[in-house]
Amino acid sequence: MAPTTLLLAAPRGFCAGVDRAVLIVEKALEAYGAPVYVRHEIVHNKHVVESLRRKGAIFVEDETEVPEGEVVVFSAHGSPPEAFANSQQLSHSLIDATCPLVTKVHHEARRYARDGKDIVLIGHEGHQEVVGTMGQAPPRSINLVETPDDVDALELGEDAEVAYITQTTLSMDETASVVDRLRQRFPLLHNPKKDDICYATQNRQDAVKVLAERCDLILVVGSQTSSNSKRLVEVSKDRSVPAYLVDEASEIDPAWLEGVETVGLTSGASAPEVLVEEVIDWFKSRGTTEVDTVLVVDEDVEFAMPSNLARRLQEGAPRPAS
Ligand code: SF4
Repeated sequence: MAPTTLLLAAPRGFCAGVDRAVLIVEKALEAYGAPVYVRHEIVHNKHVVESLRRKGAIFVEDETEVPEGEVVVFSAHGSPPEAFANSQQLSHSLIDATCPLVTKVHHEARRYARDGKDIVLIGHEGHQEVVGTMGQAPPRSINLVETPDDVDALELGEDAEVAYITQTTLSMDETASVVDRLRQRFPLLHNPKKDDICYATQNRQDAVKVLAERCDLILVVGSQTSSNSKRLVEVSKDRSVPAYLVDEASEIDPAWLEGVETVGLTSGASAPEVLVEEVIDWFKSRGTTEVDTVLVVDEDVEFAMPSNLARRLQEGAPRPAS
């Protein structure tokens, strides 16, 4: 038996940073012609990456893999300063697709380091954004923590001037216990000026919280590599509503739907809407009759193109000989 009702979270899917990053690669291909190299997956979604690959993007893990003089786009997650230096050394035409909200955190890290503060970054070890942010300050002045226990293990005196920053895709709930422990241990703790959790992360989580009150099950469209998508699953489970992450409709296991009447559907900030539409069709073709949108917050955030790409597009200049 198919569930009778499918509730769609709003907002869901692409955020302004991802929208911009994908558009940057497409516009770079238009302005310079293929190939355009992209450092790291431009966003954490295999469908987006595959579609850009078909259009002529070449994905590399390291900027030093890009031949001299070629066009390279740096991903939305942000990159450490060494990557920019290496790229300059290789005379690349560099287009930076770092999300402006991540850049804001980079500025904070550099400012705190300049002011001689000990920085604590709350984030997941190995995540691309964390690698980029850790690189903004000298290694001795920045420490990564994930849990309150990590705060206890920091080798800093109680009177240290500690300032914290956070990975943008963590939820407020997730950072709250770590921030509380930081406050207990370091009474002189400096907060970031405005919270670093991005509007899109917060809004998508808030929408899942509302869906969780009305649904028996929640499906999140997104890739396993997407931190914010995985977090949406956890937000639902935290409210005792089972939830699964699926890359596409074919990954839905009908066994999950036994006894389920209402399914909530959302998608991570890097998942294209076409994949959500396929899931909706999957349910309709099995007999789900009611499909409603639950609007929690209206979003109207947009970020401008990097100035060098905008100029290039205006000039319409041909690709330089390499
Ligand atoms: Fe930027 Fe937020 Fe999107 Fe990350 S999730 S790319 S910080 S808008």
